[in-house]
Amino acid sequence: MKVKLNNGVEIPAVGFGVFRAESGEQTKNAVKWAIESGYAHIDTATIYKNERSVGEAIKECGVNRNEVFITTKVWNDDVRGRKVREAFEYSLNELQTDYIDLYLIHWPVDGFEEAWSVLEELYLEKKVRAIGVSNFHKQHIEKLMAVAKIKPMINQIESNPKFNNQELINYCCENNITVQVWSPLGGKNTQILDNAILQEIADAHNKSVAQVVVRWHLQRGVIPLPKSINKERIESNIDVYDFELSDLEMKKIMEMEEGQRAGPDPDNFDF
Ligand code: NDP
Repeated sequence: MKVKLNNGVEIPAVGFGVFRAESGEQTKNAVKWAIESGYAHIDTATIYKNERSVGEAIKECGVNRNEVFITTKVWNDDVRGRKVREAFEYSLNELQTDYIDLYLIHWPVDGFEEAWSVLEELYLEKKVRAIGVSNFHKQHIEKLMAVAKIKPMINQIESNPKFNNQELINYCCENNITVQVWSPLGGKNTQILDNAILQEIADAHNKSVAQVVVRWHLQRGVIPLPKSINKERIESNIDVYDFELSDLEMKKIMEMEEGQRAGPDPDNFDF
């Protein structure tokens, strides 16, 4: 399944996350298993320090470059230091490719407006197929839109059943900005995968809790980026197209909202 971005580019509806996957064999194996299992969309970032392993895994898999959608992100120090173009060239070299499918500003740090103008240049030079932001709240998007010539195609933000972030998702959808969600399974918040309500729904469909959560994201119209380094989990996390959650089940999951982030707050972070 694919989703069309506001510039017409198509992006696979589920991505594979590699945050905290160690560079080298761990990332390479995970990415190879992911591609073999049907993921066609890998989400990395310069700060994850595994772009080289992602690039190697894609090459060694033997798939054509245009069969895998690659996202990477410019890190905060390079935005603050006005080194976005250098950072982009570094990522291209690490990933061993000549274009990136989606390039994101990782966090809304000082200088993001200037960084955006470099992303716009890279897009016009056809070095990236789509550009976007990550961890941007409504006010950051408004600030960006005041100076942008090209509207972001993506905002990548935190969302899970206990912190659904629905208000920001609605705002992005109303503005034709596609939402990708990070820590879709709750990240380090293991209570999500142990949750009794989710387990009951999973049992009713003969699926796992992780599969129910991935499916819930898809049915809300956002792009989840589940991460795993475990072969069986990688395979099962994308095996979500043979069942459908009912309106009542969707509502029950929405009612799990607790309003507490598992990750850092874009309005208050120190990195
Ligand atoms: P996820 O919500 O994807 O959860 C990953 C954790 O869940 C890992 O500990 C993994 O362990 C475990 N897990 C995965 N599948 C299963 C399963 N089926 N059953 C039980 N446990 C499971 O969290 P992430 O924080 O990694 O977020 C996903 C991706 O989002 C990242 O990898 C990254 O690409 C992106 N991201 C972006 C951010 C941003 O600022 N833009 C911030 C954070 C993440 P194991 O690997 O051992 O299976």
